[in-house]
Amino acid sequence: MSEYDYDLFVIGAGSGGVRAARMAAGRGAKVGLAEEYRVGGTCVIRGCVPKKLFAYASRFGDEFEDAKGFGWSADNVRFDWQTLLRNKDTEIDRLEGIYHRNVESAGVTLYESRATLADAHTVRIEKSGETFSAKHILIATGGWPFKPDIPGADLAITSNEAFHLDALPKRAIVVGGGYIAAEFAGIFNGLGVETQLHYRGPKILRGFDEDLRDGLTEEMSARGVTIVTNSDPREITKSGDTLTMQTKDGQSHEADLIMFATGRVPNTSNLGLEAVGVTLGERSRIVVDAYSRTSVDHIFAIGDVTDRVALTPVAIHEAMVLVETLFNDNPTPVDHDMIATAVFSEPELGTVGMPEADARAAYKNIDIYKSRFRAMKHTLSGRNERMLMKLIVDADSDRVLGCHVMGPDAAEMVQMTAIAMRMGATKADFDATRALHPSAAEEFVTMREKWTPPAEAAE
Ligand code: FAD
Ligand code: NDP
Repeated sequence: MSEYDYDLFVIGAGSGGVRAARMAAGRGAKVGLAEEYRVGGTCVIRGCVPKKLFAYASRFGDEFEDAKGFGWSADNVRFDWQTLLRNKDTEIDRLEGIYHRNVESAGVTLYESRATLADAHTVRIEKSGETFSAKHILIATGGWPFKPDIPGADLAITSNEAFHLDALPKRAIVVGGGYIAAEFAGIFNGLGVETQLHYRGPKILRGFDEDLRDGLTEEMSARGVTIVTNSDPREITKSGDTLTMQTKDGQSHEADLIMFATGRVPNTSNLGLEAVGVTLGERSRIVVDAYSRTSVDHIFAIGDVTDRVALTPVAIHEAMVLVETLFNDNPTPVDHDMIATAVFSEPELGTVGMPEADARAAYKNIDIYKSRFRAMKHTLSGRNERMLMKLIVDADSDRVLGCHVMGPDAAEMVQMTAIAMRMGATKADFDATRALHPSAAEEFVTMREKWTPPAEAAE
C-alpha cells in the first residue's frame, strides 16, 4: 500500500495535463486530475481548435471571389456569425466529451474544481474542501491573456471573449504583433470587419524570419488590414458604442471593438507554490529543469505555465517524456529542437528551424534559397498574391537549417519538411528528391539558384 492517496496528482486538464494523466494511468499509476473550467484546456476550448475553425470561416469570402475566374457565379453570398458560433460550440462540446471519456476510461479520477497546494505533498480541491496526498504533483495550469495596465483596458476584450461575441463589430482594432494578433486580424478582416492591427514595434512577428514578417505585412495590407506599427496604446475610452484608443504617439483611433493580443502570462497566482518552495521566474513562470522538475524534487510543471514554448504539441511532448521519466524508469529530457509552427493568418505562415538572422549569427557560411511567386490557382482567380518559400542552408555541411513558407497550406508543408530536417537532411537531399508536379511544395526540391543580398550582387 502506498503511503499517498495518489501516485500523481495533476492540476490542470489542458493539452499537457490530460496527456500526462492518461499516460501515467496507462503505466499503472493511481492518478488524480483537477480542472477548474472545461476539460481540454485552452487549445480545445478557446485556442487552437475554435481559432482554426474561425480561420476556415474567414477564408470563404475570398474563395467565392477567386471562384469567379474559374467560371463560377458567386454573387449575393452572405455570412451568418450566429451559425458559425453555434456550429463551433457544438464541435467544442463534442471534443470536450471525448476528452472526458478518455480521461475516465484511462482510470484517472477527475475533480471538476480549482485545486491548490495545501502543502508540498497535498492537493486541496477547492469546491469540496477535500485534500489528497500525492507522491508526485504536476502543475499544468497553462496561461492567461495579458492586458497592458492602461486606463480603460477593461473596455477591451482578449481572445477568450473573441470566441463568444454576440455580434461581429463593424470596425475592430487588434493590439499586438504576435500569433494571436496576426490570426485574429485575418479572421476579422476575412469576415468583413474593418480591421486595424496596432503593434508597438517597427514590424510584426518579432522572432520570425524577416522575409515572412515583410511578406505577411505586405499581403495582409493588400487584403485590407490596416497595419499600424510603432503604435502603443495609452488609454481606451468609450462614448456611446464607440471605443477610442489613444496611443503614446498622440494618435487616436476609433473602433467598435478592441482586442488585446498582447501575450499570455503563466497561471501561477494563488496556487500555493511559493509557500511550498517552488521557484518562480520572470512573468511568474515556474522554473523547471530539462526533466520539467521544479525546485521541489517531487513537484513538476509542463506546458505554458513554464513559459518555454507555448504550443500544444510541445506541452504534449513534455507530458509524455515526464511520464517516461517518472513511471517507466527512463529519465528523458524534453526536446525543443526543430519545432515546426504555423501562424494561421491570411495568408498562412509555416516555419521550422532557424530564421536567416539567427543562422547568420550561428554559422560562418550560409546559403539562402528563396522564391516569391504567384500560385498557379491565381493565374485564373486573378488574385495578385505571391507565395514565399525560403530555405536556409549551412554552406559548410550542406544541412538545411531553416524552412519558411507563406501561402496556402504553409502549415501542412512545413510539418513534412520538419521530419526531413530533424533527420539532418542536406540541400543535396532536397535536390535529389523528385518534384511533385504541379504543386507549390515542389519549389523546395527545385530551387537551385542561391539568393544573393542586393549589396553583394552589385559588387
Ligand atoms: P492549457 O491548455 O491552458 O490548460 C491548462 C488548464 O488548467 C486549463 O484548462 C485551466 O482551466 C486549468 N487550470 C488553471 N488553473 C487551475 C487550477 N488551479 N485548478 C484546476 N485547473 C486549473 N498552440 C498550437 O500549437 N497551435 C495553435 O494553433 C494554437 N492556437 C492558439 C490560439 C489561441 C487563441 C490561444 C490562446 C492559444 C493557442 N495555442 C496554440 C497555444 C496552446 O493553446 C497552448 O500552448 C496549450 O493549450 C498549452 O497547454 P497547457 O496544458 O500548458 O495549458
Ligand atoms: P505572442 O507572444 O506571440 O505576441 C504578443 C504580442 O504582444 C507581441 O507582439 C508583443 O510585442 C506584444 N506585447 C506584449 N506586451 C505588450 C504591451 N504591454 N503593450 C503592447 N504590446 C505588447 O503572444 P500571443 O498572445 O499572440 O500568443 C501567446 C502564445 O500562444 C504564442 O506565443 C504562441 O506560443 C501561442 N499561440 C500559438 C498559435 C499557433 O500555434 N498558431 C496561435 C496563437 C497562440 P513584442 O514583440 O514587442 O514583445
